[in-house]
Amino acid sequence: MENGTAERWGFRGNEVLSTASAITIRGVLNEVMGNINESDPRPVIPLGHGDPSAFPCFRTTQIADDAVADALRSAKFNGYAPTVGVLPARRAIADYLSKDLPYKLSPGDIYMTIGCTQAIEVILTALTRPKANILLPRPGFPFYEARAAYSRLEVRHFDLLPEKGWELDLDAVVSLADENTVGMVVINPGNPCGNVFTYQHLKMIAETAKKLGILVIADEVYDHLTFGSNPFVPMGVFGTIVPVVTVGSISKRWIVPGWRLGWLVTNDPNGILEKHGIVDCIKGFLNISSDPATFIQAAVPQILEKTGDVFFSKIVNILREAADVCYDTIKEIPCITCPNKPEGSMFVMVKLNLSLLEDIKDDIDFCVKLAKEESVVVLPGVAVGLKNWLRVTFAIEPSSLEEGLGRIKVFYLRHAKKQ
Ligand SMILES: *Cc1c(COP(=O)(O)O)cnc(C)c1O
Repeated sequence: MENGTAERWGFRGNEVLSTASAITIRGVLNEVMGNINESDPRPVIPLGHGDPSAFPCFRTTQIADDAVADALRSAKFNGYAPTVGVLPARRAIADYLSKDLPYKLSPGDIYMTIGCTQAIEVILTALTRPKANILLPRPGFPFYEARAAYSRLEVRHFDLLPEKGWELDLDAVVSLADENTVGMVVINPGNPCGNVFTYQHLKMIAETAKKLGILVIADEVYDHLTFGSNPFVPMGVFGTIVPVVTVGSISKRWIVPGWRLGWLVTNDPNGILEKHGIVDCIKGFLNISSDPATFIQAAVPQILEKTGDVFFSKIVNILREAADVCYDTIKEIPCITCPNKPEGSMFVMVKLNLSLLEDIKDDIDFCVKLAKEESVVVLPGVAVGLKNWLRVTFAIEPSSLEEGLGRIKVFYLRHAKKQ
């Protein structure tokens, strides 16, 4: 016992946690950002992350600001959420989502969560039992893998097919599933691919899941952020075919991810989830965790009911133009190809052609050198499950987007294989 230090402490880190969180978008981005050259006088262009809230053109609507300020100033919401009562928020979300459904949701179908993130946590935990497995898309959103690993829920991946507009490989879904498969995840509009599924494809997904007897988890955090030919169709439309749990939030459509307000919705008019104990597990999980801030919950009815088309169209138009610029400029950079023009969300996946580059080993190497030489941050595809691809965010100020893509072009010319 030198220096009074104990020889043995009773605690040590939870290994499940450190392994489960090995790959996160934030972690990979931090690693890439660590290579930025501080002496480069040019501004850093962030094409890696999906939070445009800092850009003036993506400022949320004043209706949302006022709703929160009003709720806060009323002094009615200073107690714990279950005590002050925030039922109107559940009713408002039920009405908001029912507009796009052939049946009506009731407040009892809605659970308020701390962002869409907690909703994912709730449903994955509710589905976990010994030997259970879940089917996840590749490329995908790595929080699902991390949370499943933490719950020791086995993960199996099906591919999204770039040559088919990133539709699911449904044959793979069928062959991956077995008697221990509990559910599958569908992210629409898509992160990281920027795709928007057709009504027909969503229906085929529902019918496949029904045949397999599994739940569909529909991640619709980018609901209505669409700007191509396919309109947004919520998976809940097919809730009569197969039970659907929809997760969403105000983070992306209202561009306020820091407000941490999301929801989990059971789209299950036939009551199958209730009968199989899933609803009780959802309630149980939420009973033993924390609630979203009361004044944000209290602001939800005003935010959902009063935000008009002017704000939504403005944001969607900026995204559409940005997606156009992104797609057209990428065509001028030979070492990256974009299989599908993005039609929704804030991202596009592009494939790296390493054979055209002199001294770039893989996607991480590309991103590290790009950050170092050009102060441009892009997400390596490995972070979302596709090695030697890149995920590019186009949800940034248009002038910065052009500047960033221009620097990628210069970077390509500097590293192009000499003929
Ligand atoms: C951003 C995002 C989430 C998390 O949403 P929050 O409301 O910020 O918790 C979940 N799923 C996908 C696909 C996302 O892009």
